[in-house]
Amino acid sequence: MLPRRHHELPPTAGLPLRFGDLLPGKLPSHDRIPASTGKARQAAGTAALAAQVAAQLGTPPLQLECSGTASLLIALTALHEMQPLRRQVVIPAFTCPLVAIAVRQAGLEVRLCDLRAGHFDMDPAALQAACNEHTLAIVPTHLGGRVANVDSALSVARAVGAYVIEDAAQALGARQAGRSVGLLGDIGFFSLAAGKGLSIYEGGLLLAREPLLRDRLARTAARIVPRSLGRECRRSLELLGYAALYRPRGLRLAYGNPLRRALRRGDPVGAVGDDFPLTVPLHRVGRWRQAVGAHAAARLPAFLDRITAQAQRRLPRLRRIDGIAVLDDPPDAQGSWPFLLLLLPDQQRRDAALAQLWQAGLGVSRLYIHALPDYAYLAGVVPPQHVPNARDFAARSLTIGNSPWVTDEDFEAICGVLEAVLR
Ligand SMILES: *Cc1c(COP(=O)(O)O)cnc(C)c1O
Repeated sequence: MLPRRHHELPPTAGLPLRFGDLLPGKLPSHDRIPASTGKARQAAGTAALAAQVAAQLGTPPLQLECSGTASLLIALTALHEMQPLRRQVVIPAFTCPLVAIAVRQAGLEVRLCDLRAGHFDMDPAALQAACNEHTLAIVPTHLGGRVANVDSALSVARAVGAYVIEDAAQALGARQAGRSVGLLGDIGFFSLAAGKGLSIYEGGLLLAREPLLRDRLARTAARIVPRSLGRECRRSLELLGYAALYRPRGLRLAYGNPLRRALRRGDPVGAVGDDFPLTVPLHRVGRWRQAVGAHAAARLPAFLDRITAQAQRRLPRLRRIDGIAVLDDPPDAQGSWPFLLLLLPDQQRRDAALAQLWQAGLGVSRLYIHALPDYAYLAGVVPPQHVPNARDFAARSLTIGNSPWVTDEDFEAICGVLEAVLR
């Protein structure tokens, strides 16, 4: 194992908050509205974060929700009202367990689609076989900021009359064919959870290309999302803690030590935080957290440029290591780069690399521990399906954090371990 250090690098590149973000202060100028229009100002005040990110990404208006999972739940609820006879939602067999949990909470059924070999995209033939007149929606996923194949989901969806929801939880800022991800399908969502790019500790942004669908999403949320002072207070405290600790010294306490404790007790699912509650909280995001997010969002474009440049510089170095496959984007896409996602030739060597790197404080980690059918706690949510390619992806993948705190020496140390393991 590499020597232990006094600080800890995060597994994903979150935009660090500054003290000034937490203060009431002014919002970026395009959100300011003349004082005379009190009502409009109030509306803009509560929509500042969503409006600002929409302006930066060049999307239609975004809808702010309390998490990525809540955004998906609202989307599924709205679509199910439009198509009440369709109850099945097709999701990749290797994705965030929260996606399956949202499907269940919407009162719908999870159908898994296996991946194509050596990739996170759903296998086109398996996707076609999984879809029929009962399919409500297909959820292609831009995993780790890498741009997924939405076209193949769209063609299957159009053939059976289903919708496409792009899971862009990890892909804020990713683009395809010159525009933001989330606009190729019918609906898309981003996550603003801790560690995922821009964060208000928990939050989500919903996106829909068509005005009619945007309207349905807004009305569904207005109906099913309550205010909750208690939850908002708790999230506000968590956001303060996040602002204080999301830096190399604080992360040791907040991330590294719990990670090492979980690994010592033989609990990798707990170590990466894959053990989610089976109910999705729904509540409105308060003004203060929105203002914090809007302040930080002013730095988002420069931050995304910086970590994209860093990733592009580091990819060729990784590709020179024999036996490593680095996941990248299709030719017309520019993903975002929260981390680098790699496949090693087999589980044995992936595990040998992790034995040296996972606890070293260098931001090397795993994405999800299992394919969805292999989480015991999801037994009532996910069907026990045979998904060999998803299992293979879970067994051979690892991630290298792409935060600006990962120095070239850190990265070189990681590459050295990978080279030794693959020699
Ligand atoms: C994190 C994540 C989600 C859920 O988003 P939250 O904001 O954490 O609720 C959904 N899908 C993927 C791929 C994710 O990584």
